[in-house]
Amino acid sequence: MGNGIEDWFERQQAAKQNRLDKCQNKRAFTSEAEARAHAAADRAQFGDRFTPYRCDLCGDWHLTRSDS
Ligand SMILES: [Zn+2]
Repeated sequence: MGNGIEDWFERQQAAKQNRLDKCQNKRAFTSEAEARAHAAADRAQFGDRFTPYRCDLCGDWHLTRSDS
């Protein structure tokens, strides 16, 4: 015992950093309309379907691949 909170804190920090890394590796769009336009262009070019979503980390929009 004694370092339970520190362990928890480290896990929280690691999880947050992991999310931030994901965020920063993605393209960010300032509006849903812009994200949708890029999603449509990607679908036309690559055949992949992307769904825009609002990021709760940076407040911008990212695209996530959707297989449906
Ligand atoms: Zn983000």
